[in-house]
Amino acid sequence: MLLQAASPMAIPVITLDPEITAPAKQVSQPQVFPAYASSSAPLRHVDGAFTDAAKIRELAQQVDVLTVEIEHVNVAALKEVADEYASTGGRSGKGIKVFPSPSIIGTIQDKYLQKVHLAARGIPLAPFLPISASPSAPVSSDDPLAALVPSVLEAGEKFGYPLMLKSRHLAYDGKGNYVLRSADPAAVRAALDALVPASSLSLPGARPLTDRLYAEKFAPFVKEVAVMVARGASGETRAYPAVETIHRDSVCHIVYAPLRPPVDAQHGIGHEQRGLNAVVGKSVNERAQEDAQKAIDALGEGAVGVFGVEMFLMGDGSLLLNEIAPRPHNSGHYSIEACNVSQYVAHLYAILSLPLPPINFIPPAAAMLNLLGYSSSTKDDFLKPDGVVAKAVSMGAAVHMYGKAGCRKGRKMGHITVLGSSDADVRAQIAELAALLPGSYA
Ligand code: ATP
Ligand code: MG
Ligand code: MG
Repeated sequence: MLLQAASPMAIPVITLDPEITAPAKQVSQPQVFPAYASSSAPLRHVDGAFTDAAKIRELAQQVDVLTVEIEHVNVAALKEVADEYASTGGRSGKGIKVFPSPSIIGTIQDKYLQKVHLAARGIPLAPFLPISASPSAPVSSDDPLAALVPSVLEAGEKFGYPLMLKSRHLAYDGKGNYVLRSADPAAVRAALDALVPASSLSLPGARPLTDRLYAEKFAPFVKEVAVMVARGASGETRAYPAVETIHRDSVCHIVYAPLRPPVDAQHGIGHEQRGLNAVVGKSVNERAQEDAQKAIDALGEGAVGVFGVEMFLMGDGSLLLNEIAPRPHNSGHYSIEACNVSQYVAHLYAILSLPLPPINFIPPAAAMLNLLGYSSSTKDDFLKPDGVVAKAVSMGAAVHMYGKAGCRKGRKMGHITVLGSSDADVRAQIAELAALLPGSYA
């Protein structure tokens, strides 16, 4: 989708991805850009891992600006090319600009360090603690996980149950999260076994056990909220509207834009709808946008590009930040059809040091439905004559299929965006589409 946004501006984009048929490589053919076509070394996509330093360098040698669409990348290799740029001024193999800065990607990669960084800068978060080995239960080779049990119990005592246990690294779509329901020893063991598989401990270069997990107080939110923020090279920020994200099994299924906060007299939510602005001051939506911009500013100077800010709306109307994605985000896909400038265009403007335009949400309401794979063999089910894609087309919705080679349960294979005259209108459209998908979506 970033490459689709680059196309109208004729910006050549080169992609690093392990798969030769990666979706982005299906969109762009950098070698045919006229400015480069006659060059002796035409631009080429790179086939390789995001963690492979040599491949990152190969990519860097071909470009002026490097950015990421996933945070699980080799930060040390990115730092190297960015530092070279800083010391030489760049050009011809002497380093390039990297946005967002590698150190910010590094902080965000480790969800615990991300929280430490944000908490130190006054961003409201659910309370959290690292899970480390206890001096009273040293790591034993027979049963290494036993060393973490006292730390888990300590977090449980402090935050209560259910307790959210999270992997610090390589987490996505809720993989790496575990809801621990009690201090029962068998339950604690099951949580640790799930989050730290024994096989992962013996891998070469495995992270130390004490660097694997952290605990978070469970946040009994009334809604999950997300805000996309664009931050330009000179530090200006633009917030997209606050939206509601609906997760099932920790995977985003549906996004409703803009957020319609529930009117809840008892807990003070929705005061603004009932003319009580003086009580709350600002609407939940405005506060979400302000908090999200503040959080991105708190990342520092190198925060250039678009960022997805996930938040929890609590029963008392307060907002807690859940996490930041340093890239375009699923919760911002609606912006392709619903905003004057999509999150991808905004990302390009930011990393190319262009000015950031105002962001306008155009229709009264929009919604996005993710098309998640439901098994390894169901890739084409969406495309059946009576399937969800045909229905979406008949309704005038926008269909995005990603062209991924393989399908599996929970894999994001595409999405559909609907625009409408009201929140009720887009909810009805999504219900009609979701009825064609297996399981209950909404
Ligand atoms: P992503 O795919 O967004 O990167 P992730 O794997 O990094 O997800 P989180 O965003 O930390 O995981 O959590 C996934 C979901 O789990 C959240 O969207 C929310 O529904 C739930 N969740 C996470 N933390 C908490 C918490 N402290 N209290 C309650 N629910 C939570
Ligand atoms: Mg995450
Ligand atoms: Mg998340």
